[in-house]
Amino acid sequence: MLEHDVIIVGGGLAGCRAALEIAKIGSNLNVAVVAKTHPIRSHSVAAQGGMAASLKNVDSADSWEAHAFDTVKGSDYLADQDAVEILTREAPDVVIELEHMGVLFSRLPDGRIAQRAFGGHSHNRTCYAADKTGHAILHELVNNLRRYGVYIYEEWYVMRLILEEGQAKGVVMYNILDGQIEVVRAKAVMFATGGYGRVYNTTSNDYASTGDGLAMTALAGLPLQDMEFVQFHPTGLYPVGVLISEAVRGEGAYLINSEGERFMARYAPSRMELAPRDITSRAIAYEIRAHRGIHQDGTAGGQFVYLDLRHMGREKIMSRVPFCWEEAHRLVGVDAVTEPMPVRPTIHYCMGGIPVNTHGQVRSSGEGLVDGFFAAGETACVSVHGANRLGSNSLLECVVYGRRTGAAIAQFVQKRKLPIVDEQRYVTEAKQQIQALLEQRGQYRINQVRQAFQDHMTQYCGVFRTEELMQEGSQKLQELQKQYSQVYLDDKSNCWNTEIVEALELWNLMVVGRLILESAINRQESRGAHFREDYPHRDDTNFLKHIIAYYSPAGIDIQYRPVTITMFEPQERKY
Ligand SMILES: Cc1cc2nc3c(=O)[nH]c(=O)nc-3n(C[C@H](O)[C@H](O)[C@H](O)COP(=O)(O)OP(=O)(O)OC[C@H]3O[C@@H](n4cnc5c(N)ncnc54)[C@H](O)[C@@H]3O)c2cc1C
Repeated sequence: MLEHDVIIVGGGLAGCRAALEIAKIGSNLNVAVVAKTHPIRSHSVAAQGGMAASLKNVDSADSWEAHAFDTVKGSDYLADQDAVEILTREAPDVVIELEHMGVLFSRLPDGRIAQRAFGGHSHNRTCYAADKTGHAILHELVNNLRRYGVYIYEEWYVMRLILEEGQAKGVVMYNILDGQIEVVRAKAVMFATGGYGRVYNTTSNDYASTGDGLAMTALAGLPLQDMEFVQFHPTGLYPVGVLISEAVRGEGAYLINSEGERFMARYAPSRMELAPRDITSRAIAYEIRAHRGIHQDGTAGGQFVYLDLRHMGREKIMSRVPFCWEEAHRLVGVDAVTEPMPVRPTIHYCMGGIPVNTHGQVRSSGEGLVDGFFAAGETACVSVHGANRLGSNSLLECVVYGRRTGAAIAQFVQKRKLPIVDEQRYVTEAKQQIQALLEQRGQYRINQVRQAFQDHMTQYCGVFRTEELMQEGSQKLQELQKQYSQVYLDDKSNCWNTEIVEALELWNLMVVGRLILESAINRQESRGAHFREDYPHRDDTNFLKHIIAYYSPAGIDIQYRPVTITMFEPQERKY
């Protein structure tokens, strides 16, 4: 059996930042990071637009309080305000710290870190490295892990959280290279497994964003919080869905409908293209519904709108958002200097997740905590984003809460012994699970069931939701889950068997999908990204609270947690 003081699942920004903190504080500690991709291929590497912090380099009137207010308002008042205060107060410090580690931020002419406008932020406070910010940060973090001696298991797939009597004791993992199964026991386990964009059929997320950490947590009997809040990013490149960063609008691009009109004037007159994502995505969906979308041949009534950069000029486009220009050019043959880009909303971010306190310790219920289990980053719900995340607050969350969680773990493990784990039992169960998949006979390929599931979630739990639609979706989803036992695998080998990984991921996607759908049925109001056509208004009397949902094959059990309100009383949200 493998042993570490700390095992961190996930090599993105949150996992790497936490590992680094633990290794710095406890040079005696044996810390390992495991990732199913190479850490540098974690989705964090794809982050484009930047990371918010009130450094005041561009706008001296900015403050952490203003950042906190924008974040809480953006969240439609569902964020926990104690967690938002920590996020926004610590932001300038973590950015400077990253710079000292070697992250190459874009600069102002006087040499200070540059800051740009972003949706829902009232000041120019987003720090960036052109439109490759995640790439710049993740590479430095991974370099630093090597320097501090953190052990990295790359391309190992974690299959199961070992949780016994309320204590996390380790994980079971599968080596994608050769099919070997290992049990790792540890004094503390941390999940930093990222989001679940692949629950839907069109997403900006990478193929690895399958919500494994969420599903493993739910399958261990622990709750997930705020799962109904699924963020659509307004500008996914049509038809592929890959992201065109909000930085493009931050730098001045327009959204245009088939009539050549800047339609955001109807939905958010004061913020226009820089309204928060929930409002902008719904605005695009309304335009498309009203036949003011555009067809490939330029006529009205199609499935996308235009993102127009032409007035920005070649020099600005190529220096500030070169990667977005390249994406449109490479993927759909559009030269954004001379032509508008076709865009429509794409699934982007998961506001909900594994509920944690402000030290990253996982909650076992409304009040209790799980011994030895921590989480941070997109997979966690602390909750700083509430019902809708503001752009450039996620990288920030990963770094602020990665660092805090790392510090809490370093302290936690000092006085702990390694837990006792029945290695044989967990190895046998994992082998049986994989053998059963290999031997399973049925009529479906993985891809068929996954596509049907992703189409299903998009149809029944997308931008516009109703009770009737989602109840039907819930019934049909249970039928789809049954098809899982009729999936057959062609590849029976041990060497780089990606079908096994995809089969394990598919079950996780389905577990997460059910939690999203049932939480969405339960929330009978519209708030942030969750829009109910049958309950079109926010209802603070009945729903100013977090939903926590427990999974079981028989059904989903829903409970509630209060929202922490310390600074800003809920108001009507207008832009
Ligand atoms: C295209 C794009 C652009 C974005 N741009 C921005 C931006 O400009 N600003 C901003 O603030 N936010 C942005 N975001 C959001 C932000 O990038 C993510 O929320 C954040 O990077 C998530 O980091 P993470 O560390 O939580 O997880 P990730 O970076 O997703 O890493 C997850 C890790 O977990 C591992 N893992 C998962 N499951 C398993 C398993 N079963 N076994 C082993 N390992 C596993 C993966 O291999 C990976 O290493 C963007 C997101 C996307 C998709």
